[in-house]
Amino acid sequence: MKCYVLEGEWSPKEGYCLNEREKRDHRAARGNLVWKNLRAGIVTREDPQIRDDEVLIRVGACGVCGSDMHAAEMDDEGYTKFSGHLRLPVIMGHEFAGEVVEVGKDVKDYRVGDLIAAEQIRWCGKCPSCRIGKFNNCYELEEIGLSADGAFSEYAVVPEKYCCNINGIAELLGNKQAAMEAGALSEPTGVAYNGMMINGKGVTPGSHVAVFGSGPIGLAAIALARAAGAAKVFAFDTVNEKLELAKKVGADFTYNPVELAKQGSSAADAVMEDTAGIGCKMIVEAAGNPDRTYPDIVQLMSIGANVVQLGMRGGLSQIDLTPFLIKGCAFTGSLGTAGNAIIPSVLRMMEQGNIDMRKIITGRYHLDLTAEAIEDAKSGVHGKILVSQNY
Ligand SMILES: [Zn+2]
Ligand SMILES: [Zn+2]
Repeated sequence: MKCYVLEGEWSPKEGYCLNEREKRDHRAARGNLVWKNLRAGIVTREDPQIRDDEVLIRVGACGVCGSDMHAAEMDDEGYTKFSGHLRLPVIMGHEFAGEVVEVGKDVKDYRVGDLIAAEQIRWCGKCPSCRIGKFNNCYELEEIGLSADGAFSEYAVVPEKYCCNINGIAELLGNKQAAMEAGALSEPTGVAYNGMMINGKGVTPGSHVAVFGSGPIGLAAIALARAAGAAKVFAFDTVNEKLELAKKVGADFTYNPVELAKQGSSAADAVMEDTAGIGCKMIVEAAGNPDRTYPDIVQLMSIGANVVQLGMRGGLSQIDLTPFLIKGCAFTGSLGTAGNAIIPSVLRMMEQGNIDMRKIITGRYHLDLTAEAIEDAKSGVHGKILVSQNY
């Protein structure tokens, strides 16, 4: 089969202290401190074999994510720019759905021909973190497409416990390919769901919500806020193309902070005017640019607001904490999509037509052109780009 593989050399930076698992498995917890001289491209491999508790899928759609963009990029010393979990070589691609073509003998709930979306986070179920229900923080965590083989590929193996049936979405949409595209978008949507609905304690119907950053996670946050009954939904981004997508998924007000600044205004000014001075009860930071976003966020938080941090950014950030005290606000960080019925809930919303994340798809590339798809994603104007052997 054809697949898009990332390779590199195991070469821990001087001073980086390897933990036991890293020594044992050559699986870096901090990829950018360990892997260098990266190469990525389409290769031909033997078709994968399934175990008894796994299914084999023919991949129908796989989304390009920020991690796919950074992993093959190198710094001045030749190390990857991706700072998360990484074990090489690996078939990249972790936001995917496909059609089941083979089932292991212990698989109970799936048949050949079923359409499935796959959960990205693999957890052990035994470690202290799993045993308190924190699957996203599993000690033995594997991330498909980064530390275990993913789905920029013709075929992929998925253990049954990470399969989610999406036949119902195909019924609603009347189209298998459309259902697999929706299924592939369940991963970024799940990231937003986990932050807002689980860690952020949910959207209060009738309250106002602001989302900073209208990339795929921010766009999912907007769609979820709309579906959850928010009153006014505000979207911010410095790229106008993304603000157009924000409107498509349900934002009532879209603002470009750079343009606001030119007019002597700000995100906070706009929100406070549009909400008659009440502010937003939930704020989602999906821009990963806290130095720029928090000066506004702390002003437009309502009393008792929840601020959910989803955007990733290394290093220290300056945030004025006093408004959190004065207004009794909470700050929550969130990562991952496992557990708490997150992906199944997202898929049920898609199946009922509560959200349609296919609206954010702005590019479709054939599997052979995965490198081009990833390069195009770096332009910064896209919603979500998908790769498939069916395009
Ligand atoms: Zn992703
Ligand atoms: Zn675990």
